[in-house]
Amino acid sequence: MKRTPKAIALISGGLDSLLAAKVIQGQGIHVEGINFYTGFCVEGHTHAIRRTDRDKVKRNNALWVAETLDIPLHIIDIIEEYKDVVINPKHGYGANMNPCLDCKIFMVSKALQFITESDFEYDFIITGEVIGQRPMSQRKDTMPVIAEKSGANDRLLRPLCAKNLPPTLPEREGWVDRDQLFDFSGRNRKPQIALAKHYGFTDYAQPAGGCCFLTDKKYSTKLADLWQARGERDYELDDIMLLKVGRHIRPKSHYKLIVAREEGETRFLQGYKKQFSHIQPISHRGPLTLLDGAPTLDDIELAARITARYSQGRDADSVTVEVIFEGETTMLEVNPLAAHEISPEWMI
Ligand code: SF4
Repeated sequence: MKRTPKAIALISGGLDSLLAAKVIQGQGIHVEGINFYTGFCVEGHTHAIRRTDRDKVKRNNALWVAETLDIPLHIIDIIEEYKDVVINPKHGYGANMNPCLDCKIFMVSKALQFITESDFEYDFIITGEVIGQRPMSQRKDTMPVIAEKSGANDRLLRPLCAKNLPPTLPEREGWVDRDQLFDFSGRNRKPQIALAKHYGFTDYAQPAGGCCFLTDKKYSTKLADLWQARGERDYELDDIMLLKVGRHIRPKSHYKLIVAREEGETRFLQGYKKQFSHIQPISHRGPLTLLDGAPTLDDIELAARITARYSQGRDADSVTVEVIFEGETTMLEVNPLAAHEISPEWMI
């Protein structure tokens, strides 16, 4: 009996990967999704914490895509391996700390690894890439680089722009009808939106800059600051999660404050109280503040005054704060820092 070809689709949770998988599924191919967890993903995390994002649906968009397409989704943790991509990108960074080209090569190579480890149960890889959509990774000259350097070569099919590229293995083998693929190009999203309408997709995610925090200017500044302060380009998962949360204030090079901006963030930072010295206003409602780095006892008063500045006692003469410094608890009465005393250079 003739075997139904199987494809593995890179699912970020955005519209393009949803459409690419749907197009191939529509040609009678068995499609399964693969989603890589790097730690920098925008998915769910901050939306679930912050009150400002209450209008956003609290969901993991990659799971939502898989559910919408009724396909299995393989979620693969690549946090450790991905560090080398972020720290030493061979093709450099984009506008911020986003190593998009190396990232795409790496993810496609991981999808290929998934195929080989399955003993070629799957035949080819699908991505939602569109030529000209993104300045770094989705250009006419970089599309072949991804195919080649990942090792996927012509097992990599981009259904949304395939007609602008040479035929791939699934097209040549007749598993996929090239005539029913697309020739989208450029940054115009209208063709994707029209195709989504055609399929009846309305509730899809529309990330603003990209699929991860590394495209975000403020986030990238905080990551660069972390590396500079530590004197090395490295990170742990907690570091990059905490960069997504709170105001980051560095009054001195050897320590910084992570000040919760709202109740949801205070609740989130509570989970880090055992790992960090921290400060909490007691006499007035106010944010939990974590102290990251190597603050000394001499730094505590300034850190407490900054914390008080962001409490409801900011205009009071004195605010009582609880300080847990290196496991010791003390109460301090401090005068909240005035707005003009906070140097803009401290704000990361
Ligand atoms: S936006 Fe982030 S996840 Fe997407 S390709 Fe670029 S670096 Fe990779």
